[in-house]
Amino acid sequence: MPENDNVKVAIRVRPLSNKEKAECLGKQCIQVDLSMSSISIDTKSSIKTFTYDFIGDQDITQEELFEVIGQPIASSCLAGYNGTIFAYGQTGSGKTHTILGPSSLNLLSANINDYNLRGLLPRALEFIFNSVKKEIKRCSGVEFLLKCSFLEIYNEQINDLLLPEQRGLQIREDIKKGVYIEGLQIETVLSFEETYELLNTGIKNRHVGATSMNKESSRSHSVFTLAIESKEKKDDLWNFRSSLFHVIDLAGSERQKSTEARGERLKEASMINKSLSTLGNVINSLVDISEGKNRHVHYRDSKLTFLLKDSLGGNSKTCIIANISAASTCFGETLSTLRFAERAKLV
Ligand code: ADP
Ligand code: MG
Repeated sequence: MPENDNVKVAIRVRPLSNKEKAECLGKQCIQVDLSMSSISIDTKSSIKTFTYDFIGDQDITQEELFEVIGQPIASSCLAGYNGTIFAYGQTGSGKTHTILGPSSLNLLSANINDYNLRGLLPRALEFIFNSVKKEIKRCSGVEFLLKCSFLEIYNEQINDLLLPEQRGLQIREDIKKGVYIEGLQIETVLSFEETYELLNTGIKNRHVGATSMNKESSRSHSVFTLAIESKEKKDDLWNFRSSLFHVIDLAGSERQKSTEARGERLKEASMINKSLSTLGNVINSLVDISEGKNRHVHYRDSKLTFLLKDSLGGNSKTCIIANISAASTCFGETLSTLRFAERAKLV
């Protein structure tokens, strides 16, 4: 992946399920040309080709994806820069698999094969805790403080996933503290295992709604944040660093008509559409700014972009992983995801 720019857009194609394989009978409508970092899609009237910073085809492993996307961002957070990773895509496209791994996976009791399927977030947490350990060994004067929080945004309402009775939290902005969420539970963590337990507690508290497309589909954005603070004494002076590492499993991007949404589901769908399009606009403005153009960034147009205001832009690293399926039944949503991802970085 190109190293120089701070906003990256990657695509991950998930493998077809057995059911999809039977339905498609070998005629997949999406072709991936890895040598060109491009994806071609036959829209009947024409063949459209999209280009991104990185494309992982259906054979990419969790480890490879971590190496290209997770590790560079986690490393830059350890160096004091903010980093954010988003998983975007329709329900069932592999967002949660990309971020966490298979839903049944418990790393603390898994066998080695399942363990290797762990997603980008547990890998990044392991990497960060191991790096911190090494750094403390290497240099006796350095101290670290790591803290985590986990929240969801459902219908533009912020709910604490670590303390589920805390709902409807407010975002505040203050000259000293910057943007923060009032009353959000922030836990100091000393090890990967402790952080992983908190992550699992939060996952159990996530809001799930049944749509006709996928019963387990998540209609909320979940935001896991690890704050990394360090201080190091050099020549009698303290050198302070602090950064935030966010990993975000976005709500399904599918348009509601394909899931026959009504009532509450329809309200969810319009909130999700609005916050995903705001996210696209914000990313697009940041790309423009990094290329020297003067743009106003509309962070306050959604809760998600507002709470990330201090973490996007500037020297921060951001990556959107747009997840797609190559199955012909997902054609419309896949095309829409490819367009969203392209527009996010269109210059
Ligand atoms: P989403 O979170 O976008 O709704 P999931 O991550 O739950 O989608 O994926 C849907 C199904 O596809 C799950 O059963 C998941 O295990 C499987 N899956 C997704 N991506 C992959 C992958 N890269 N390799 C193997 N199975 C995958
Ligand atoms: Mg999911």
